[in-house]
Amino acid sequence: MISGIFILINGTREQGGRAVITVEGQVYKTLPVQMDTTFTVETDKGYNVVVIKDGQVFVSHADCANQICVNSRSISKNGEVIACLPHGLVITITSSDEEVDAVAY
Ligand SMILES: [Zn+2]
Repeated sequence: MISGIFILINGTREQGGRAVITVEGQVYKTLPVQMDTTFTVETDKGYNVVVIKDGQVFVSHADCANQICVNSRSISKNGEVIACLPHGLVITITSSDEEVDAVAY
């Protein structure tokens, strides 16, 4: 029997750290999700209004045809994504710990 192995789960890491907004694959903006803000992303094809509130990120308005991004549920956890395909816009939640882990050991 192998004993004494504990899988440590960083349960509190579930909350995302940063919202990364990319347009056509280029990073447009990176923001901490702890910071409430609203801003408009202007793309070549239209705009998306991105809201960060209480650690949740969502698209409140957009002039895209399908409105899938507007109707998407807000995201707050690492790896969650909202995409506006007509505009080539992708919002991803990523951990803010990555950089810290890279320098700390
Ligand atoms: Zn859209």
